[in-house]
Amino acid sequence: MRQRAVIGNWKMHGSIKSVRNLMVEIMDGLSPLAGDLEVAVCPSFVHLDLVGKLLRGSGSRIKLGAQDAHMKDKGAYTGDVSAPMLADLGTSFVLVGHSERRNSAGETNDIVVSKFGAIQASGLIPVLCVGESLSQREEGVTEKTIFSQIDPIVEKFGFSVFEKALIAYEPVWAIGTGKTATPDQAQSVHELIRVHLAKEDAKTADSVSIIYGGSVNSNNAEDLFKQKDVDGGLIGGASLKAEEFISICKSVDR
Ligand code: PEP
Repeated sequence: MRQRAVIGNWKMHGSIKSVRNLMVEIMDGLSPLAGDLEVAVCPSFVHLDLVGKLLRGSGSRIKLGAQDAHMKDKGAYTGDVSAPMLADLGTSFVLVGHSERRNSAGETNDIVVSKFGAIQASGLIPVLCVGESLSQREEGVTEKTIFSQIDPIVEKFGFSVFEKALIAYEPVWAIGTGKTATPDQAQSVHELIRVHLAKEDAKTADSVSIIYGGSVNSNNAEDLFKQKDVDGGLIGGASLKAEEFISICKSVDR
């Protein structure tokens, strides 16, 4: 059975006080998890150490994630954070290619490929974010767009990289907009991705976790996560509210 996962993306939110409170509430609410669900939270860089210490001190199964990593291990890159630095802090997962970085930080597929490689080389698990914009969906190029985000990774590193990576399908039009993909829309793209990967290696395609992101909340999570190829979620806004995040996790923890 595929690993199910729920990952919270806290983006550029929180203060020391609010992050501490949020984390304590989430740890309380998810202790214990009933099934084998993988849960992770991705605070901003400045809160990673705090959250890592809270997690280690509590013995919680929740993992630490980061929102980005530089493609180089070290060097004169003012303001950036490398994958080995994140590994040193006890991070397990790193988002890569999030649409907010592709769009506002100008990250191209080439940059995403390099970052993906750097993250895996440091022993961390990349969460490769892919998804189409509204105009791409309307033009009928959803499939082409998503494959163009996945294929360069396979070309550069080979197919086996997906044995130690997650894919997050995040339609750009659904991120932070309150417009969620319907369960059928999500399932059909997740299936497309899996079938595409299966052309190379059916076993890995069957085992890679493909999670959905885009305005998931406690009301729509269960229907989305019931879909056969939807293995959990990448949660933005709702992961900043402990009750919502706990309820989303519980809807997939079985
Ligand atoms: C995200 O940022 O990855 C995301 C899915 O955000 P939201 O849940 O707020 O749409």
